[in-house]
Amino acid sequence: MNLDLTARQAEFRDEVRRFVHERLPADIQARLRLGHPPRKQDTVTWQRILNEKGWAAPHWPREYGGAELGQAERLILLDELFRASAPLPQVFNVGMLGPVLLKFGTDAQKRHFLPKLANLDLWFCQGFSEPGSGSDLASLRTSARREAAHYIVNGQKIWTTTAHLADWVFALVRTDAAAKKQQGISFLLIDLRTPGITIRPITSIDGQHHLNEVFFDEVRVPVENLVGEEGRGWDCAKYLLMNERTGIANVGLCRERLGYARELAGRLTEAGRPLLDSPKLRGEMAMLDAEIRALEITNWRFLLSSDTAQKTPGFASVLKLKGTELQQDIAQLLQRIAGPSAMERRPHDGDSDGAAHWAGPLAMRYFYSRAASIYGGTSEVQKDILAKTILG
Ligand SMILES: Cc1cc2nc3c(=O)[nH]c(=O)nc-3n(C[C@H](O)[C@H](O)[C@H](O)COP(=O)(O)OP(=O)(O)OC[C@H]3O[C@@H](n4cnc5c(N)ncnc54)[C@H](O)[C@@H]3O)c2cc1C
Repeated sequence: MNLDLTARQAEFRDEVRRFVHERLPADIQARLRLGHPPRKQDTVTWQRILNEKGWAAPHWPREYGGAELGQAERLILLDELFRASAPLPQVFNVGMLGPVLLKFGTDAQKRHFLPKLANLDLWFCQGFSEPGSGSDLASLRTSARREAAHYIVNGQKIWTTTAHLADWVFALVRTDAAAKKQQGISFLLIDLRTPGITIRPITSIDGQHHLNEVFFDEVRVPVENLVGEEGRGWDCAKYLLMNERTGIANVGLCRERLGYARELAGRLTEAGRPLLDSPKLRGEMAMLDAEIRALEITNWRFLLSSDTAQKTPGFASVLKLKGTELQQDIAQLLQRIAGPSAMERRPHDGDSDGAAHWAGPLAMRYFYSRAASIYGGTSEVQKDILAKTILG
């Protein structure tokens, strides 16, 4: 497949590259290049800069703050952000809830929420998973009973990324316990300041606080915060998860991390010689490079040919599975290049020099990369889908 960009696409890539070069704050770029996750303020600052161009939500209609970019331009933009070690637009707002509101939301919901999602005036998190309901999401038990103009929500969510930083959560709740599994579920927008909500931190294996448990005790949610029809929340969830999968190959991220591995291996020495002199290491990097290239081609085929995507439903699973494996392989490679220094863990958000030490973030990143084969649908579940849809 020919992956050459058209003249217009190349022009767009150059425009994005120039913009990112001129506007991305150097301290944010330096932190992310070292392997730290973006701080909330990094994402807010950068997303607002991107939003000036409509590039925070590039696929949305212009009237709601987007730039109406096609698939190819979106991918080019994403690659350039990764290439520059820039934060990505906040995924729950832009990649998940935005598209759901555009398809299922009322006019009032679209007008109220979409501009705020694009500009990160509101930070949303995703309240889907529950204890015992992850891969089998439709078994969820958090309930919402209707009382006049409110739903009363009770139950628990878990693994809620950034709930402690968020203003709102979009949640799947069961509004009809008697209906068949998928049919009794509704999609609600819940203000996290509402009385009855408790957020408890979960520390993950990287020693950081990204995750939370969220408890709901008689939480009153106005009925106008229902998205789509009552009992049809599963349609919203399916649509959202489809959107989540589209960007999940993370080709640009793999390339950026491999580039960093090459840079480090050129700088670090063993017995007076750069690590990069090792033919074994170079061979390993060349293999990873080839795999990234193959994934890139698969990604373009998936995005540009809706026919292929429809005929082969397992395509998205290939991207998720392979993208995850590559991310994990590269995180592991970086960890090995850093050697014992990588075992030093530093808080990414410390007051002093969280960003100054180069090796600490690699260990955190390595540990966190293990989660990539769990969130967004586990690797085992992707393999099940592949077995059914492609192998038959
Ligand atoms: C870092 C991280 C961030 C997350 N962020 C969020 C978030 O923001 N919001 C949110 O709602 N959720 C979030 N999740 C939750 C995530 O979606 C679930 O962890 C995931 O769906 C798996 O569900 P589970 O943890 O309940 O595992 P289970 O579904 O119980 O799976 C346990 C094991 O059984 C395997 N398994 C399950 N079913 C099958 C099957 N049919 N065939 C073969 N094997 C199977 C799985 O692959 C896994 O190995 C996050 C998870 C992680 C790790």
